[in-house]
Amino acid sequence: MNDMDTRARARIDLGALRANVAALRARTPGAAFMAVVKADGYGHGMVRCARAALAAGAGWIGVATPEEALALRAAGIGARVLCWLWTPGGPWRECVEADIDVTVSARWALDEVTRAASETGRTARVQLKLDAGLGRNGAQPAEWPGLTAAARAAEDAGLIRVTGLWSHFSCADEPGHPSIARELAVFRTALAQAEEAGLTPEVRHMANSPATLTLPEARFDMVRPGIAMYGISPVPQLGGPADFGLRPVMRLTARLASVKRVPGGHGVSYGRHYVTPGETTLALVPLGYADGVPRHASSAGPVLVAGKWRVVAGRVAMDQFVVDLGGDAAEAGDEAVLFGPGDDGEPTAEDWARACGTIAYEIVTRIGPRVPREYVDTADGPAAVPADSGGR
Ligand SMILES: *Cc1c(COP(=O)(O)O)cnc(C)c1O
Repeated sequence: MNDMDTRARARIDLGALRANVAALRARTPGAAFMAVVKADGYGHGMVRCARAALAAGAGWIGVATPEEALALRAAGIGARVLCWLWTPGGPWRECVEADIDVTVSARWALDEVTRAASETGRTARVQLKLDAGLGRNGAQPAEWPGLTAAARAAEDAGLIRVTGLWSHFSCADEPGHPSIARELAVFRTALAQAEEAGLTPEVRHMANSPATLTLPEARFDMVRPGIAMYGISPVPQLGGPADFGLRPVMRLTARLASVKRVPGGHGVSYGRHYVTPGETTLALVPLGYADGVPRHASSAGPVLVAGKWRVVAGRVAMDQFVVDLGGDAAEAGDEAVLFGPGDDGEPTAEDWARACGTIAYEIVTRIGPRVPREYVDTADGPAAVPADSGGR
């Protein structure tokens, strides 16, 4: 982090992350664990979080893009890494050379990866993805027999090895939704077809965080959680993090840039959407939408300042927002806590999500690069073991 930046910071508790991985593993005996660290570890720092998850027993790392996968290798992470979001002409060769497990959802992708394998003289590790109903990536059930047969032929030619078969739920965060049983059945049928086609994957997997916590029948050989590892409940309607043995990893704070008395009737921020009801004290929090504080938090987002929850007064600007302290005292430099684990009375990322009409995933993931990350390690997590490889 940049020690000169006294404005704001996101404190990342790697001990909490390790404890969350341990708690999730304890709930999923017999299943391997893929730690999902895409999007810079949901804003927590991709490499640091990948290392912490591996130290707590994760066997695999999952990311969306091949660039993220290659960045993990460049940082010295030697564990199995799966990436799934490819576009034509992507860095297949680089990924095959770096022993990354790549996902294939369509014939064009199988063609590109087999070409990369023959060019490099290496066997590519390929995982086939099924669209069981989400309608995003993945092969349609009608295309699956053709894709699995072609993959089997590429195995026979020594070009690829099919290491995994997987899919992704559309509504795992709505337990009891009828699509869940339907998509599980579609995936099971596809697994049976792949077996008939002669494929022998190492891992079959479908469970994101909500499925990891609520659907034991969806674990197959491996679970693939992201948000739960960062200590946020993927099913807030069923319970908060503590109900699942999890603890939020990120704590976002800023130091007040200004505290001043203003008269009643004073407008606050662009558009004058807040006007002071009487003489009062305004505090300026130096974080804005450029840092990932949603503009939708205008007149809504909660902040702990001077011992109490305040609500953002008026609009969130690019770099700053204001809170009204009423009659309470504070000084420039005092701490404002936007969110954290919640045990010191501060709001949580879930509170921000509710205030902004979004999900806590978006709140933490969008905290931008201008906010330095400070890594700490609380003692309550399992002891860190050295990472399996070098690098930072
Ligand atoms: C993001 C993602 C995950 C992790 O989802 P969470 O809900 O954060 O646990 C798992 N699998 C895929 C394919 C993903 O894109």
